Amino acid sequence: MKKPNIVILGAGYGGMMTAVNLQKAIGLNDATITLVNKNDYHYQTIWLHENAAGTLEQERSRIDIKNILNMQKIKFIKDTVVSIKPKNHKVKLEDGEIDYDYLVIGLGFEAATYGITGLKENGLMINDLSSARLIREHIEYNFAMYNQEKDKDQAHLNIVICGGGVTGIEFAGELVDRIPNLCAEFDINKPQVRVVMIEEASTILPGFDQQLIDYTMNSLESRGVEIITEAKVKECTSASIVYKKDGEQIEIPTFTTISAAGIRANRIVEQSGFKMNAGKIEVRQDMRTLEYNNVFVVGDCALTSENNPENLLSPTAQIAIQQAETVAHNLKTLIKGKGKIVDFQPRTIGTVASLGNDDAVGIFMKDRKLFGWKATVMEKIIDNHYLYKLGGVKLMIKKGKFNFFY
Ligand code: FAD
Repeated sequence: MKKPNIVILGAGYGGMMTAVNLQKAIGLNDATITLVNKNDYHYQTIWLHENAAGTLEQERSRIDIKNILNMQKIKFIKDTVVSIKPKNHKVKLEDGEIDYDYLVIGLGFEAATYGITGLKENGLMINDLSSARLIREHIEYNFAMYNQEKDKDQAHLNIVICGGGVTGIEFAGELVDRIPNLCAEFDINKPQVRVVMIEEASTILPGFDQQLIDYTMNSLESRGVEIITEAKVKECTSASIVYKKDGEQIEIPTFTTISAAGIRANRIVEQSGFKMNAGKIEVRQDMRTLEYNNVFVVGDCALTSENNPENLLSPTAQIAIQQAETVAHNLKTLIKGKGKIVDFQPRTIGTVASLGNDDAVGIFMKDRKLFGWKATVMEKIIDNHYLYKLGGVKLMIKKGKFNFFY
């Protein structure tokens, strides 16, 4: 009998952990497993804000796929997915086409721009390692240019962050940690640099506990971030950002606008005709799409909820990793023809948002709040634990963060 073909799209948290779990659960004779990713490396998306601010080297976030997966068991294809044809069980790649019996979609997120004029064209997004590198180099270039020009243009030194959610505040925290060194390196007077965060809601971190919000506001403002809430970004050009607050339209000259307004699933999934809800693929409890019994979705492409459909889960690495366990288990069950298909049960242990090198906020076990170095330590433990799950002690020691105290 022909071995079933399992194809996994995307080597992010969801795709990689599905592959890691499957290579343990399924024997060589049970199925052919293929992983497709546009790069031959996996990256730590949760550290991209550090790469973008320049506080962490790119190399630290980059993990070669061949060093993690057993290449005897998993076939790796370095290629870019163009579209999925679920009715024909095919995936179109830039360089060919592949068939599948079972498909796992883990193509991740892209920045949502919510129709803000010019944001897609002129804003910088923290999407992947190369976009993070671009932000770092763009900021350095603008600091260098400032002193090169006769009429020193303040737009070089104004950095505007659109969105005060987790990505926005994490990037701001790292950036203000780096600014003193940047100023020293490029001969800039620190007070000349402006870092502005614009948030539409009445507070940053909307939906978070008030004490965590207050702590975050204090931490960022005390290090120089100007936080503007209840302000709607109207337009982003290559040299400015325009927002509206209290009925007044205000313009900030800037060559650097970071879009952290929100995320949506990779556009490819919508273009491939899957049923979407809130920018993501609607899935059943067992992580299969509503329409296809042989198509699973993991991570930021999937819309999942906790307890009731109203209670949507935030897209996090933690959730993607847990979903990968469910998907691998269900694939094993379908392929071996024994056992039970299970539903995805999120275990939300806690959430931590970093505010820089030695500061963070977090919530654990539903209501335990952590601030400052305690939250930082917890964040590093979570990050190291993921590296351990992915590639064992060796990877954890090579890439992990162990500078717990400063
Ligand atoms: P991703 O990790 O985005 O991986 C998608 C993969 O698909 C990538 O390898 C990509 O190269 C590949 N791919 C994309 N398109 C194609 C294509 N067309 N063809 C082939 N391959 C393709 N979550 C937390 O839990 N804790 C945090 O502290 C945290 N901090 C964050 C900080 C930042 C700055 C950001 C941006 C996100 C953060 N998140 C955090 C969210 C978390 O990173 C995401 O929820 C998680 O990465 C989702 O995993 P994923 O597997 O769905 O996709």
